[in-house]
Amino acid sequence: MPVYKAPLRDMKFLLSDVFDYPTHYQGLASGENATPDIVDAILTECGRFCEEVLSPLYQSGDEEGCKLENGEVITPKGYKEAYQQYVMGGWQGLSAPEEFGGQGLPASMGLFKQEMMGTANWSFSMYPGLSLGAMNTIFLHGTDEQKQTYLVPLTEGRWGGTMCLTEPQCGTDLGQVKTRAEPQGDGSYKLTGTKIFISSGEHDLTENIVHIVLARLPDAPKGTKGISLFIVPKFMPAADGGVGERNGVSCGSLEKKMGIKASATCLMNFDGATGYLIGPENQGLECMFTFMNTARIGTAIQGVGPAELSYQWALDYAKERRSMRALSGKKEPDQVADSLIHHADVRRMLLTQKAIAEGGRAMLYYAARVADHMVEAHTAGDTEKAEKYDDKLGFLTPILKGFLTELGCEAANLGMQVFGGHGYIREHGMEQIARDTRIATLYEGTTGIQALDLLGRKVLLMTQGGAVREFTFKVANFARKHLTDKRLRPMAVELLKLTAQWNVLTVRVMLAARKDRDVVSAAAYDFLMYSGYVSMAYMWLRQSAVAVDKLDNGGDESESFYQTKLNTAEFYYERLLPRAQTHATSMLSPTRSLMQIEAENMAFTG
Ligand SMILES: Cc1cc2nc3c(=O)[nH]c(=O)nc-3n(C[C@H](O)[C@H](O)[C@H](O)COP(=O)(O)OP(=O)(O)OC[C@H]3O[C@@H](n4cnc5c(N)ncnc54)[C@H](O)[C@@H]3O)c2cc1C
Repeated sequence: MPVYKAPLRDMKFLLSDVFDYPTHYQGLASGENATPDIVDAILTECGRFCEEVLSPLYQSGDEEGCKLENGEVITPKGYKEAYQQYVMGGWQGLSAPEEFGGQGLPASMGLFKQEMMGTANWSFSMYPGLSLGAMNTIFLHGTDEQKQTYLVPLTEGRWGGTMCLTEPQCGTDLGQVKTRAEPQGDGSYKLTGTKIFISSGEHDLTENIVHIVLARLPDAPKGTKGISLFIVPKFMPAADGGVGERNGVSCGSLEKKMGIKASATCLMNFDGATGYLIGPENQGLECMFTFMNTARIGTAIQGVGPAELSYQWALDYAKERRSMRALSGKKEPDQVADSLIHHADVRRMLLTQKAIAEGGRAMLYYAARVADHMVEAHTAGDTEKAEKYDDKLGFLTPILKGFLTELGCEAANLGMQVFGGHGYIREHGMEQIARDTRIATLYEGTTGIQALDLLGRKVLLMTQGGAVREFTFKVANFARKHLTDKRLRPMAVELLKLTAQWNVLTVRVMLAARKDRDVVSAAAYDFLMYSGYVSMAYMWLRQSAVAVDKLDNGGDESESFYQTKLNTAEFYYERLLPRAQTHATSMLSPTRSLMQIEAENMAFTG
């Protein structure tokens, strides 16, 4: 099976030339040590770790999966050793505060690391990824004592973390959470209940696991306003920083699932487990959702990663596998047939993957700058500034998470298709990428829920279309600046038209929703996808503008690199962006065709 190769050239192009991260980092307190040399060294070393350590475990981890033996979860062969190397490398604390043992680098550095790790081996990256969620929650809402107890071992990677939200009766609608927390009169609580689908709920990689759990206090109000947040450690922390006695939380079973088989997805039983409140009573959901935007960028990476990985492997295959002759005449006359890459339809698939991977990466790097400002303001206690950046990020994240993970699935499927029947056979790894990717549109809020969040909350309710106006204003200004260059003009003109259309669509959906309450739910998915295609078009124009400048004036990369960027942008505008119009038409259609069939008439079975 092929291995992953870190796309460092593309990453550096985006970092240095498209988004000018060196200047961005100079303006951040946490960016003091993020000089171009250091950033370069970190990315290179991370790429090496991903290529040499994580990628080789990708397929074996899938074959072997996790096992539950006597209540303990055993991760696949090699995972423990790889995790030790991860800990020794200090990777968990890359963007964590220095006061808790981290390296204090900007949040975006953590996302770049996460992209490479997640692409090389998504299952592995889930373990440290969930720990980051727990770290962020404790950092923001924990007491000083909680921070002292938990943050250092979590930052070192000695302890792992989980996020325990989902229960059998609810995943999206967390207002239905039933797990109970009884106060014990000594500041602690006893938690009782069952959580399902808990990633990294139990495993053998760390000496302790810190569960962040949603539960209800006695007499708490019904629904979302009666949920509180608790820390429940697997082993009680000992005074010397190690671990003490076992707590009443255990893994009841492991889910048998479609993909990410090396990631332990656990049913967790809380049997009077000792826990400690984090944040105010009954405000658990608010606390849980702070930093959710950053976490969702993390999940959006699972759209870009599979597109990248599947593309790399499909491209190699398309250059080697031979089938018939190209329609425009023999390309490799001395061979028995031309290789797949000479067929236009195979190129359609490959270039779709490439445009999604590179366009999606640009979307992530664009948002990561905003995340840096948001985290910095939070850390400095500047609430007003933090909220401003959180709002900006709040508009981008459902688009990133929803749109990119949907496209990630498409790209992974295309990768299988390039391999023909061999894509369906396990040996080549293509079907594994497709299976592993599928979860990304489901957890951390399904695509449907992201779409409702974008259109219903962020666009209509909170800003009455203002979020779209603000973003499109920026995009249109950028497009206008590039109308004069003949290589960029067609793209700039198209993007300008789309920014105007996006606003018109928003107003039309808003007006329709006033008359028919089902409109928001009916239009949300198409609105999300439309927003995604236009945002990605903006990213492709930004990359093209730099490419054109470098072609004219020279840059660090080869001429062919910049020319290929421009050509990929042209492909995106001509062959993928037209899909936005289908979504525009669909979102404005009346809800009647969706709602008119009675539930009992949906199926024609007996
Ligand atoms: C492998 C895996 C790992 C996971 N890891 C974790 C974890 O670590 N921690 C954790 O707490 N959870 C985890 N989950 C749970 C995951 O977050 C939930 O499955 C997800 O949030 C969806 O919830 P649900 O499955 O209950 O679906 P439901 O909420 O029942 O939704 C079913 C469908 O209905 C749609 N829907 C629901 N409500 C609405 C509405 N109001 N309007 C329109 N459409 C709606 C949804 O979009 C979806 O398509 C994991 C799940 C899996 C499979």
